[in-house]
Amino acid sequence: MYIDMDAYFASVEQASRPYLRGKPVAVVGSGKRTVIVASSYEAKRLGIKTGMTRGEAIRKLPSLVFVEGRNNKYVDTCVRIHEILLRYTPEVEICSIDEFFADLTGSLLLFPSPADIAAAVKREIGERFGITCSVGIAPNKLVAKIAGEFGKPDGLVAVEKDDVERFMEGLPVESIPGIGRKMKEALNALGIRTCGELRDFPVSVLRRRFGIWGDYLSFMARGTDPFRARDQGGLPRSIGHSMTFEKNIGDRVVIRARLLELSGMVARRLRKEKIVAKGFSLTLRYPDFTTLTKRMTLPFYTPNGRIIYETVTALLDSFRLKDAVRLLGVSAFNVRRFAANPSLFGGLDREERLWKAVDDVNDAFGECSLRPATTLLCVRHHWVISPAYRPVCFFS
Ligand SMILES: [Mg+2]
Repeated sequence: MYIDMDAYFASVEQASRPYLRGKPVAVVGSGKRTVIVASSYEAKRLGIKTGMTRGEAIRKLPSLVFVEGRNNKYVDTCVRIHEILLRYTPEVEICSIDEFFADLTGSLLLFPSPADIAAAVKREIGERFGITCSVGIAPNKLVAKIAGEFGKPDGLVAVEKDDVERFMEGLPVESIPGIGRKMKEALNALGIRTCGELRDFPVSVLRRRFGIWGDYLSFMARGTDPFRARDQGGLPRSIGHSMTFEKNIGDRVVIRARLLELSGMVARRLRKEKIVAKGFSLTLRYPDFTTLTKRMTLPFYTPNGRIIYETVTALLDSFRLKDAVRLLGVSAFNVRRFAANPSLFGGLDREERLWKAVDDVNDAFGECSLRPATTLLCVRHHWVISPAYRPVCFFS
């Protein structure tokens, strides 16, 4: 079962602030340069899209109501939805702040049918949070997700094993998660528009054109999930944070302070998810929106913010900055589970204890209650978490 909240951030706002109901609402950060991170269905219908700037959106729709996002509220609601799902099965995977997969295989002796569970979950989410969600039920995650998206908004689509091919057949290829604009265009150029056409296309040609993806595409087109066996156990592919600034930053000292802040945020997430990484990247964006990324792979895995900071500042030093920057981003990739052997990171035990203490304080008193003094150089501004943000639930 795949469960996805409909227009999540915007729905949460409309549910908790009744005057927003029925209105086109856009959720944004507080800065002048913030972009739209979510919008209500009323706004979507009138052409408002995620990623639009405030200015663009107002020109498009002068009656649009802007609301500052409240991260805590979204994370909190996500955690409560997770709790609801756990009453039906212990096998719940949070795949983003508003999407979950629940394996119901073991629950079918306790409940009449998957559709009954889905209906009960939808009802409870509606009653408790005043928001709607879309649910897809299928023999695997791939088809469940496609079915969930298909039924949006407020949908419940169940696809039986024997109906999978028929369900997939008529869908456009871009219904398959992971097929973006570029891949869709490449497939369309081969005369492939629907999943049925993709299924019937010779896999040898697909392989020649797309490499291993050719095989995956062929599998997915018939509703077989090629990634099932390659499940990383919920391990994210990368963890990153970025910030767009109110004012472009030209001063390298301030850029470094921001990088320290971002590195600390990435390190904190690595620690929370109990993973380590050895690849790190620095992204910067100039006022003209040119975006550059450099990456570096270390010879060892680490969750350490200081090492991340040193790595990304080394990357920064390799840039000849041609202008001030409007955005900075730090990401960790090439991740693996943290094997509990602190001495692996030679000599850092003391520092790790320090960060553990800092995390504990920040967990209790809020993000950034304790932080390196250097980051005081940064004017704090409100930011909204990315919808791809995955809260860590300790009780799962
Ligand atoms: Mg959603």
